[in-house]
Amino acid sequence: MITDCCMMNGEFESTLKGIKERHVISGSDLLVLTQHCGDRFWKALQAVAKDLVKKYIFEPSGREAWVVVGKARDYRVLSELYCDCEDFYINVIVKRVADLCYHILAQILAEALETYSEIRLDDMRYDSLRAEWETLIEKPSPQKIEKGDH
Ligand SMILES: [Zn+2]
Repeated sequence: MITDCCMMNGEFESTLKGIKERHVISGSDLLVLTQHCGDRFWKALQAVAKDLVKKYIFEPSGREAWVVVGKARDYRVLSELYCDCEDFYINVIVKRVADLCYHILAQILAEALETYSEIRLDDMRYDSLRAEWETLIEKPSPQKIEKGDH
């Protein structure tokens, strides 16, 4: 079944793996990503191109946090498995019609292509930033849920 969502199948997974290994998106990768992710792929690519993917590194612990800057707010992406956006919650967790949101895809592409901003902060900042991110998670905006578009 081909839909505009990101169903994790062998072809899609091996495409992502290839991009990570080669640090390049090839023509055939473009076809697979477009076919499997549709608009999510284009939004992800835009986020990467606009330098909206940030990698926070806290020192000296070395703790990392990936954040994709969105229109309404920042979205925290946890290692390809979870994002705190409405699209992920509705379409991945509840409806199970997608395997990832565009933020996660943007993070994967940005890391693979090494096109992201690295922000180094003292560990002292971790708790306050985490609190800020968690406050954001507790306040989803219901009017945006239907669109899956932030
Ligand atoms: Zn997301």
